[in-house]
Order: sequence, then structure tokens, then C-alpha cells
Amino acid sequence: MSEPLLRLVDLIKHFPIRSGFLMRQVGVIRAVDGVSFALYPGETVGLVGESGSGKTTLGMTLLGAYRPTAGAIWFRGSDIADPVVRRRVPAIKKAIQVVFQDPGSSLNPRRTVRQTLEVPLRVHGLVHTGVQVQRRISELLEMVELPWEFMYAFPGALSGGQKQRVAIARALATAPAFVVLDEPTSALDVSVQGKIIALLLDLQRRLGLTYLFITHDLSLMRNVATRVAVMYLGKLAELADTAALFSSPRHPYTRMLLSAIPVVSDEEEALKPRWVAPRGETPSPAHVPSGCSFHPRCPEAFAICPRLDPVVAATDGGGLVRCHLYPGCTPAEGVDATPTPS
Ligand code: SF4
Repeated sequence: MSEPLLRLVDLIKHFPIRSGFLMRQVGVIRAVDGVSFALYPGETVGLVGESGSGKTTLGMTLLGAYRPTAGAIWFRGSDIADPVVRRRVPAIKKAIQVVFQDPGSSLNPRRTVRQTLEVPLRVHGLVHTGVQVQRRISELLEMVELPWEFMYAFPGALSGGQKQRVAIARALATAPAFVVLDEPTSALDVSVQGKIIALLLDLQRRLGLTYLFITHDLSLMRNVATRVAVMYLGKLAELADTAALFSSPRHPYTRMLLSAIPVVSDEEEALKPRWVAPRGETPSPAHVPSGCSFHPRCPEAFAICPRLDPVVAATDGGGLVRCHLYPGCTPAEGVDATPTPS
């Protein structure tokens, strides 16, 4: 396998909970709690979990929107978890971009498409003349399959799918290597979602892009992701090749997510694996249960689970899992495997 493009090492993002007149810290939200994995050039890693799993916080931390509490994010030889490093290396900002969920709110309604796309080109010094601006914006619109005349339109005149194409063109303006896709189709009509996914995959093939695709929709990842990472309450539960994850999921939480995928026919229903449904709702990341945080809901929990937090171990299929049911995941009693708190 090639060298990773991006490597997260024990990444932690905690948010303090403050209360009272003096705003004393009374608790902590463990949004991302010791996550480590790598992304390789040209692949799509689907980052999946319910709301509160920490997947969006992790994506925003990679983008530099949040300063990590601890841990490292290695990208092309630099630890970009350090905001000073991120600021000092302008090439990093160009190389990492994002497409957000709602193109309606991510585009300025008072700017034409041309003005929107001109901003990153000017900020990064990629164009110097009006002719260069015109030429590059025409290229970007062609890449996202919009006519060049759209550069004079305001977002209000565009459909949801067209707005998302403009948002994708804006992300591509700096010729990035890595793009965070934060639920890029969930605000769109079902009829448009497939076209946007097809466009993203086509752009990935043509431009060699690496994607982190954040979604709560595990079924969407079956035909999109190279590998899938499943998060639960700020921690990685499982990471595996997409086919392996769908055919033989290891973590009980992954099985729960798979068993919740709707089926469209009796034949699919008959083929669907049966797993025992989990109990209750996801706890708040401000009140993470002891031991394995999934234990209050886990149908397979046993004596050690409430007492000891499992660690991540490599699987024989080349993936990762964090569950006492698997070899290597149970630390020696008395060894604190909890990541450093804030
Ligand atoms: Fe369930 Fe225990 Fe595995 Fe946690 S460690 S997922 S509680 S079996």
C-alpha cells in the first residue's frame, strides 16, 4: 500500500462545559476521544455514525475549524494539528477543502457564482488578471457540468443540485488533494443525490482526489467508499474495507447500523442478516458510560465490558476493531487505556 496522505494519531477534541456566574468548568464533552487511522491517496473513507458520534467534529478538526485538544494530524510531513504549522504552510490550506451539507446556506446569496468562485482563486494568488479569472471559472463550471453562463447567476436562481455543484467547484478551485464531504447529498432531493454522487466519483477519478465522506447513512457508502470507519461516542468502533464491513461486520454497533438499513423487497428482507437489536438511545458525549461506552446498549455485552474500555486492534482482514470480543482489544487489567483528558 502507498504512503498515507493523511494520518490521525490519537486525535482528541474535548469541549469544556461551563456553568454559573464565573463560568466554571463543570464537565467535558468528549466529542472526539482518541481516534487514529490513515487515509491513502485516491480513496474514499466513509465516516459513519449517529448524531453525537463525533464524526462532524472530527471532520471540522481536520479542516482546522477546531483546535485539537491533543493528538496529531500528519499531512505531507507536517503535523497540521498545530495551528501555527497550518498557518505557516499556505499549501496546506489549498490542499484541504470541504463541501458542506447545505449548499443553500454555504453560498452567499448576494454573490454571483463568479464572485463566489473568484474568492479562493484570489485569496490563494492563483489568478492575477480578469482574463485568468474568467478562464479558470469557466473550467471549474465545466468540471461540475454547469454551463459557463451560470457564472453570472445568483444562488437564488439555482436549484439545490446546481448550488451543490457550485459548492463543489469552489472546493476544487485550489486544486486540492483531500476533500471533506460533510453529508454533501443529505439536503438534496433523492433524484438529485445520485447525480451529485456520480459527479464526485468522476471528479475523484479524473483528479486523483482523496475523500473523507461524512454521513449518517451507512447504506450510501456501499457503492461509494473504499473503506468505512464507524464512530460511536467519539471513538472508532470499527474500520474495514467496504465489502468486508457489509458482509461480515465485527463490532456490535456496526451490526446495529446495518440491521437498521431499510430494505425494498421481500427478497432483500429474507437475505438480511438477523442481529439482536440494541437497547435504548445513544448517551450524551457529556456522560460517556464507563468501560466500553456501548455496553448499556450492546446485546453482546459481558462482565468485563462495563469495567474496562477496549483498545483498537488490527483485524486479520486489515481493518481495525474496538471490542472485547476480539483478540488484542482487551488491555491488561489496571492499565488505563483512556486517552489523555483535556
Ligand atoms: Fe459490546 Fe462489550 Fe464489545 Fe462493547 S466491548 S461492543 S459492550 S461486546
